[in-house]
Amino acid sequence: MEIISINPATKETIGSVQTTSLEFIETVFDRAKEGAAEWANLRLTQRSRKIRLVRKMLVAHMDELSKLIAAETGKTNWDGFLEVFTTVEHMRHVSKHGPQYLRTEIRSPGILQNKKCYVNYVPHGVAGVISPWNYPLILTAAPVIEALMAGNAVVLKPSELTPLTGKLMTELFHEAGIPENVLQTVYGYGEIGAAIVDSPKTDMICFTGSVEVGRKIAVACAEKLKPVILELGGKDPMIILEDANLQRAAGAAVWGGFSNCGQTCISTERVYVVEKIADEFIELVKTKTEALYTGPDKVDGEIGALVSESQHEIVMAHINQAVESGADVVSGGESLSALGGYFIKPTVLEVQVDNTDIMQKETFGPEICIMRVKDEVDAVEKANSSGYGLSASVFTKNKKRGQKIARQIRAGSVCVNDVITNYITADLPFGGVGISGIGRVHGAEGLKSFCQTQAVLVDRFGLKKEPWWYPVNKKLQSFFRVFTRVFYG
Ligand code: NAD
Repeated sequence: MEIISINPATKETIGSVQTTSLEFIETVFDRAKEGAAEWANLRLTQRSRKIRLVRKMLVAHMDELSKLIAAETGKTNWDGFLEVFTTVEHMRHVSKHGPQYLRTEIRSPGILQNKKCYVNYVPHGVAGVISPWNYPLILTAAPVIEALMAGNAVVLKPSELTPLTGKLMTELFHEAGIPENVLQTVYGYGEIGAAIVDSPKTDMICFTGSVEVGRKIAVACAEKLKPVILELGGKDPMIILEDANLQRAAGAAVWGGFSNCGQTCISTERVYVVEKIADEFIELVKTKTEALYTGPDKVDGEIGALVSESQHEIVMAHINQAVESGADVVSGGESLSALGGYFIKPTVLEVQVDNTDIMQKETFGPEICIMRVKDEVDAVEKANSSGYGLSASVFTKNKKRGQKIARQIRAGSVCVNDVITNYITADLPFGGVGISGIGRVHGAEGLKSFCQTQAVLVDRFGLKKEPWWYPVNKKLQSFFRVFTRVFYG
């Protein structure tokens, strides 16, 4: 069977790939096992050198990659380029700091001074990486390089909506020297993803995608007690306090809500603005939104198309339901599908109630909802009211106040006077709380998630026996009792 890749901005066919059969996938896992054994034997610095070569290869093919990403997803060329930029920055960071983060760590032997203790970060073996379509390069390449740096072989499944980006990326990795059995890419729909999760030959899973599929994967991994990282959806809040720089805050809301056509897991979907400055803020957001161009003219285009008809339908349904429930349309609110692709005019709504889908569920489109709040306390309470907890942002000129509020927000990451930029910062761990996921990628924490933490204790002096081994000496027993009372009491 073939998967046909369509450009959502023009509905033209770009190309196709053959799906991997469920029979062949067993061969893939066997080859991955062989690859894992060889790859794990390389020193950390050898793996990091190979990742550096991959980075250079990606930079050499930067324009080709940006264009393909834009074509497969409907995003603008600029959004496509930003993805390549973020990917190579992550690669630079992983190859530079990976060896340091993953080297053996000496630990204290505590009271047992005759022992040497340390921790090894040992690869799991074969990592299954399953990725979504919204950032088909970075959300594929980043977990792959982290898994490789940690010493695993990878079986990758890119989204069925963006298989060509996954294919080109894999070819570039191989051309740069990553062995073919160390990175293998399989193509297909959910059942191929499920086969990766279910196989006894995959030793860990890193999944990025929806809460719905993430939940199924969590259940499947729980049954097998297989380690899993789940990077799921979000409904990110932005808080604008009365002392915020309103120009910057409005610019951040517009970029945070509309870049990548709002199809970013950490895009701004809910904005809580303190009543006192709400009119001025909403006016600024409206002006900035109305200056944006939406359409297929990618040279000047600022807002691209949504990825598919079904995504277009979900976003329009959320907007329409909100408007029927009394939301005011500040800007946009209409479909622009007459332009030939799945376009929606960037939409700003002022909402009064938070029981609609647009305030409760992930919309994943070019829309932001603004709600007025009494004060900081009200804002934090509302920000924490969804079950999601991926990312959030706070705007205030008082940085101390912003950082204090950050601690009160239930989210895996928080930006103060910024938005989304934490994702570009490769040393910061990334992941969610609540229904936004489990585990972390990026930074030292992310690299370590792709390893098992192995504790090692080495006896230093080789005495005949330990005091607690048989036979137990009565005098030593009394000594230990006295010692415990004096030392710990
Ligand atoms: P999705 O969950 O529909 O699909 C993701 C991947 O899982 C695809 O490759 C798909 O083929 C595969 N899949 C589907 N069913 C499967 C199954 N039963 N077992 C194994 N694999 C299966 O998500 P999507 O629509 O591709 O992506 C959009 C979602 O991803 C949004 O919810 C978005 O918020 C989320 N996302 C999260 C992050 C993050 O880092 N937290 C980043 C980007 C996107």
